[in-house]
Amino acid sequence: MTQASPSVASFAQLGIIAPLYNRLTELAYHCPTPVQAATIPAVLAGRDVLAGANTGSGKTAAFAVPLLQQLLGAKETSQDKSAAFVRCLVLVPTRELAQQVADSFLSYAAHLNGQLKIVAAFGGVSVNAQMQSLRGGADVLVATPGRLLDLLASNAIKLNRVTQLVLDEADRMLSLGFTEELAQVLQALPANKQTLLFSATFPDEVRELTASLLTDPLEYHLQSEQESTIVQRVITVNRPLKTALLAHLIKTHQWSQVLIFASAKNTCNHLAQKLSKRGISAEVFHGDKAQGARTRVLDGFKNGEISVLIATDIAARGIDIDKLPVVINFELPRSPADYLHRIGRSGRAGEAGLALTLLSHEDYHHFGVIEKKNKLKLEREQIAGFEADPDMPAAVQEQAKPQPKPAGTGKKHRKVLPPANVEFWGKKS
Ligand code: AMP
Repeated sequence: MTQASPSVASFAQLGIIAPLYNRLTELAYHCPTPVQAATIPAVLAGRDVLAGANTGSGKTAAFAVPLLQQLLGAKETSQDKSAAFVRCLVLVPTRELAQQVADSFLSYAAHLNGQLKIVAAFGGVSVNAQMQSLRGGADVLVATPGRLLDLLASNAIKLNRVTQLVLDEADRMLSLGFTEELAQVLQALPANKQTLLFSATFPDEVRELTASLLTDPLEYHLQSEQESTIVQRVITVNRPLKTALLAHLIKTHQWSQVLIFASAKNTCNHLAQKLSKRGISAEVFHGDKAQGARTRVLDGFKNGEISVLIATDIAARGIDIDKLPVVINFELPRSPADYLHRIGRSGRAGEAGLALTLLSHEDYHHFGVIEKKNKLKLEREQIAGFEADPDMPAAVQEQAKPQPKPAGTGKKHRKVLPPANVEFWGKKS
C-alpha cells in the first residue's frame, strides 16, 4: 500500500536517539526530508520498505540513520568474533557509490564511539585490505555484488546472520546486468530479514521482482516533478555541430563545473580531446580507467579541482556532488530511468540545477520514448548559429532505413558516409 508522507519537524520526533540526531545537526540536517520523515519510523519498526523519492532527496540517511540505531540497540556484547558475520548488508551498483554510502554511514555514526563497524568492499582494488577489515565481521557492509561474492567464496565473510538487507539504486540492482550475482547473494542470506529497497525510479519491469523480495512492505512514492529543483532544457542541433555547440555553451556560460554524459568510453575520450583542442580542459570517468584514476578524478571533481568531467553512466547513479550547477547529456542514455538519474547529479539537497540535453536528428525518437516513460514534455530550443535543420539530413534518413543485407558473407554492412569535411564522431571525413 502506498503511504502518505507525514510532515515532521525534527529527527528526535521520528524517534532518532541523541548521538545520531546531534550528529545530523552538525551536518546541517536541521529537519528530515520527506523521504526521511516517511521511512525512518518504518525502518525503526523493523518493516520492509520500498521507497521511491527524487534524486538528491536524502535517501541515504533515510535508511542509514535508522539502521545504525537498530544495530546499536540489537548489539550483542558476547558476539562471536571468530566467524566474520555481517549484520547489515547494503548492496550498490558501483564502486564509487559503495565508498560514498559507507562514508555516509561512518559520518552519521561519528558520535557512536566506534561501537559499530562499517566496511566498504568493491572491486578494482586489492581484496586483501578488505579481507583484513572484515576479520571479526562487520555491523554494516556496503558492497558491490561482484566483490561481495569473491569475499563470500573465500570465506572472508558469512551472510547467514544478516538481519537487514538494503538495495540502494534498487531498480538497477534488480536489472538484468546484476541478475546472476544478485541471485547468488540472496541465496547466501537468511530468509528472515528486514529488506529495504530505495531508488528514484522503479520502472514497471522491476515491479514484480520487488514484490518477490519484500514481506508486507510499506511503500512510499515521493517522486514529484514540482519538488524537483532541476530545470530541464533540450537543444536541437545537427550532429556534426554537437561538439562545437558544447564548447560554445561551456565558454559562454562559464559554469563553475559541468558534468557531461556520453554513452561510450571511447566517446568520452574523443570528446575530451576535441574539447582540449578548443581550449577546454576536461577529464574522463569511465570503466576503462584504473580504479586509482577513477577515484582521483571523482575526488577532484567533487572537491572542485576538476571543472569539466565527461562520464559514462557509471557516474549516473547516486554520486553526490555538492552544488553541481549543470549536467549535459551529450548523448542520450539507453534507459529512460537513467535520464532521471543523470540529471539528478545536479539540483541535490534542494539546490538549483540545470540539465541540458543536446538532441540531434538521430536522437529524436529515443528522446520521445524517454519523455513518455518519465511523463515529461520538454520544449525544443535552438541556439543561434547552431540551429538544427528542420528536416532530417539525407545521411541520417539513410541510416534510419533498414539496410539490405549485402550478398556474400552476410556480415558486411553498407557504410553510410557523412558529408565531406564534416566532423562526425571524432573523425574528419
Ligand atoms: P542523498 O540523496 O542521500 O545522496 O542526499 C543528497 C544530499 O542531501 C547529500 O549531500 C546529503 O548530505 C544531503 N542531505 C540529506 N538529508 C538531508 C537533510 N535532512 N537536510 C539537509 N541535507 C540533507
